[in-house]
Amino acid sequence: MKTIAQEKIWLSSPHMGGGEQKYVQEAFDTNWVAPLGPNVDNFEKSITQFVGGDMHVAALSSGTAAIHLALELLGVTRGDEVICQSFTFSASANPIMYLGATPVFVDSEIDTWNISPELLEAAIKDRMAHGKKPKAIVAVHLYGMPYKVDEIRKVSEKYDIPVVEDSAEALGSAFKDEKCGTFGEIGIFSFNGNKIITTSGGGALVSRKEEVKKKAVFLATQARDDAPHYQHSNVGYNYRMSNILAGIGRGQMEVLQERVRQRRFNYDFYKKHLGHLSQLEFLEEPEGYYCNRWLTCVLTPSYEIREKIRLALLEVDIESRPLWKPMHMQPVFNEFPHYSDGTSEDLFNRGLCLPSGSNLSQNDLERIVELILTKI
Ligand SMILES: *Cc1c(COP(=O)(O)O)cnc(C)c1O
Repeated sequence: MKTIAQEKIWLSSPHMGGGEQKYVQEAFDTNWVAPLGPNVDNFEKSITQFVGGDMHVAALSSGTAAIHLALELLGVTRGDEVICQSFTFSASANPIMYLGATPVFVDSEIDTWNISPELLEAAIKDRMAHGKKPKAIVAVHLYGMPYKVDEIRKVSEKYDIPVVEDSAEALGSAFKDEKCGTFGEIGIFSFNGNKIITTSGGGALVSRKEEVKKKAVFLATQARDDAPHYQHSNVGYNYRMSNILAGIGRGQMEVLQERVRQRRFNYDFYKKHLGHLSQLEFLEEPEGYYCNRWLTCVLTPSYEIREKIRLALLEVDIESRPLWKPMHMQPVFNEFPHYSDGTSEDLFNRGLCLPSGSNLSQNDLERIVELILTKI
């Protein structure tokens, strides 16, 4: 029973840095209340500087929109097949459907919980044996942990199939000192409300090629041809980020490093106080991997123990969540081809995301740890 009223602890809630309102105010003062303007330009610049100076970044209305445009720019069209990591959020896969293409789901490996290079290659070979070469691969850095970049790149190059790098959860993560978002043919970020930084809603598309960014911006602004009147030779979208929201993004970029530090602190705290329990398993960083620890996740011995912990937390208003339910198990996708060995299904059954916001207090963390210790 609750004796003292304590505030709800969220899984991952927005955490403003202080500079955001200044940039939003600037947009009002200069009347740049539009889906373009100086905040959009500067937000894009700060992301470019963060991930590496030779990248080109387009700020968009969401991460989902960025994946949609990425697939379209890679030529995915009706009837094509696109490989997608099964263990992910549905937004990795939905844009494949928008384009009338068929998703082919591939299971994860256990070191990073991301797409298995071996199963990926097996899937490509099998699809080709069925007469269809996949058009693209959507690989995900889930919970901020980089996927097996070298191995996936090798498969991608061997079969000449481009990777869309879903880095929605991995802004600030790195592999061998290179930032996530820069490994695929096209990378994407999300600035949704629960991500490591937020614009309340938003996303970005990242490419090494300026031409790709230009085409993305063109499609994202209704594909308007160069003419004094409104002329269109392509179907376009309304996917650009507003200058108001980009103002929030500029302020958030100023605190991104701090947010990564805080999220990594949460992981270290949980690990230090719960890591000795034989019933809890933490996802470690393999050599060369740097995880932003967007969410700290633990594996329990069974579905029952996972649920016991989750419900005990819920009872005292602490939000935790099972790991992502694999796409090949989702009612909307379960008819599509999948190459699985049970790994993601097992992770889904036994795994739990703990509260991981960068704004958790020491008291919050202690409350969570104490409760788990009494329940396990
Ligand atoms: C959040 C998320 C997205 C989608 O981003 P939105 O900005 O919410 O559209 C895509 N993929 C993954 C893995 C995500 O977590």
